[in-house]
Amino acid sequence: MTRRILFPGSFNPFTIGHADIVDRALRLFDEVVVAVGFNESKGNNEEIEARLNSIRQHYKEESRVKVVSYSCLTTTLAQQLQVSALLRSVRSIKDYEYELQMADVNRHLTGIDTIVLFARPELASLSSSVVRELQHFGHDISEFLPQTKR
Ligand code: ADP
Repeated sequence: MTRRILFPGSFNPFTIGHADIVDRALRLFDEVVVAVGFNESKGNNEEIEARLNSIRQHYKEESRVKVVSYSCLTTTLAQQLQVSALLRSVRSIKDYEYELQMADVNRHLTGIDTIVLFARPELASLSSSVVRELQHFGHDISEFLPQTKR
């Protein structure tokens, strides 16, 4: 049986912090599904496609990582994909409270557990929103994005 774990998030953008969690999860599970959640009513399919493509490009040589998008409940996707667990990460106390609540609700709804990996301390201050902010002001953000082999 394939031990598959679902890593849901916005990944806007997918950073070296997210990539580190995926790499570490690959040591524990056979397959990691990175699931980019989006709000259907907000549209902007092109932007979502670009986000999916850049994550796929990064993992093009790692067949154990799948990348999908979804706009339903995370637990609905988890059941469809028959995953063993959800994967999330905690950087701080602030993340902890949110992740605890989400994990509780998701387990209540479906019985599916959430595996939480602690962020590496050197990556714990990195967030997609900070990266977006830097990009908005024209800063080079490449050091925060996983380097894809060409
Ligand atoms: P969401 O919008 O659902 O919070 P994100 O895309 O921001 O989704 O993050 C997805 C997951 O990745 C969350 O569990 C978050 O805690 C984790 N994460 C975000 N940044 C980092 C980082 N720098 N290091 C480790 N984990 C991270």
